[in-house]
Amino acid sequence: MLGLDGATPVKNCQLQLANLKSPTMIPVADAIQIVLDQTTSLPAESVALVDALGRILAEDIVADSDLPPFNRAQMDGYAIQAADVANTPARLRIVGESAAGAGWHQEMKAGEAVRIMTGAPVPAGADAVQQVELTREVNDANFVEILESVKTGRSIVKRADEIKAGETVLRAGEEISAAMIATLASFGYAQVKVGRRPHLAVMATGSELVVVDQKPGQDQIRDSNNYTIAAYASLAGANVERLPLVGDDTEELKRQIAKACEGSDMLITSGGVSMGVYDFTKAALKELGAEVFFERVALRPGKPTVFARLGSALVFGLPGNPVSVAVTFNLFARTALRAMQGAKEAMLVPHTAVLAHDLKGSMDRESYLPAILRTDEKGTLWVEPLKWGGSSDFVSFARATALINVPSGVGRIEADSPVKVLRLPS
Ligand code: AMP
Ligand code: MG
Repeated sequence: MLGLDGATPVKNCQLQLANLKSPTMIPVADAIQIVLDQTTSLPAESVALVDALGRILAEDIVADSDLPPFNRAQMDGYAIQAADVANTPARLRIVGESAAGAGWHQEMKAGEAVRIMTGAPVPAGADAVQQVELTREVNDANFVEILESVKTGRSIVKRADEIKAGETVLRAGEEISAAMIATLASFGYAQVKVGRRPHLAVMATGSELVVVDQKPGQDQIRDSNNYTIAAYASLAGANVERLPLVGDDTEELKRQIAKACEGSDMLITSGGVSMGVYDFTKAALKELGAEVFFERVALRPGKPTVFARLGSALVFGLPGNPVSVAVTFNLFARTALRAMQGAKEAMLVPHTAVLAHDLKGSMDRESYLPAILRTDEKGTLWVEPLKWGGSSDFVSFARATALINVPSGVGRIEADSPVKVLRLPS
């Protein structure tokens, strides 16, 4: 096929060769869908309530009792009959006391009042509680004067008004937040069924790498990716094992990758997936017989991200650049780790913010660019793109709290435009 400009067959031949070399670049959404399709949830395990924070519920949480379990006083004061205090001040005889944990279990009659505390059961016969501030005890505390009338039902939460026994209050797939702990405790969940934590092996590759407590020699740099991935993966609920560094050597990579996959639910490598002469991670995976689901994503940064399975382990081959690692981990690997634990919302949740500066997108790739979120005094959520020197600029990235998502094909976004952002886990 000749080009429109009458290009020579040689030029076309080169193009075709380039296409042959580069596997298809798939959209980010497709890549995430593939990750979700290939991820199966791990078996559930029981953990003590004190260890449940941040875990993913693997069972529905059902109320084992009504809430409140009895008609409960909402105020310190007097249980009364509203009709008795239609005209105030009204004098009522104090016939008893109902305290939290020690109720007054007789029938209260017209003309009577029961001294009552917040959280105590309202006695039968009473239909309202007047708060203590609007009352006055008289005659050696045998009588109380109610100074203001109340409506029937005032300051009483009726039995089962909040929750009925048997109701599902939290659902499998939700992440257990601190706000949920009271619910779990109140309905007797001393043990909670949650998704097992994935066992994740993390392997930085690259002959230039030295470990963090070593001074880099000539042409060397310290590995940071193993630590970045371990940090984000811990936030995502994984148990992380950092493996020794591996150089750019296909045979050594094959040995280490095979070993890592044996005992792990997931392996994440970094480095060695671009088009360089020493990028061997993909070759190692393929020679080991891994099933490769994608190896190029229309993503900036993070184009050469690889997703595969070897044995029963999922494998993410992330690019080497530290910012690419943070982006691709949070889009793909985090999603898989959370799905493995049974999370209903495995992906980071998008928010909308107003762009503080103009931003350049990419014509053929979707961008996820590091940024800082802040709310102004009017309550507007602003997102400020970081000035950064590319995907290797981890020092700028250190201040990032979010990623700005620019769709593929959008050349430029003006300041003050609404944009989609993902909050980075921290
Ligand atoms: P690569 O994807 O292997 O071509 O690496 C891209 C860039 O990321 C190179 O400048 C590497 O030196 C750097 N890099 C690769 N692995 C790491 C790592 N574990 N920690 C920090 N930088 C890395
Ligand atoms: Mg490398």
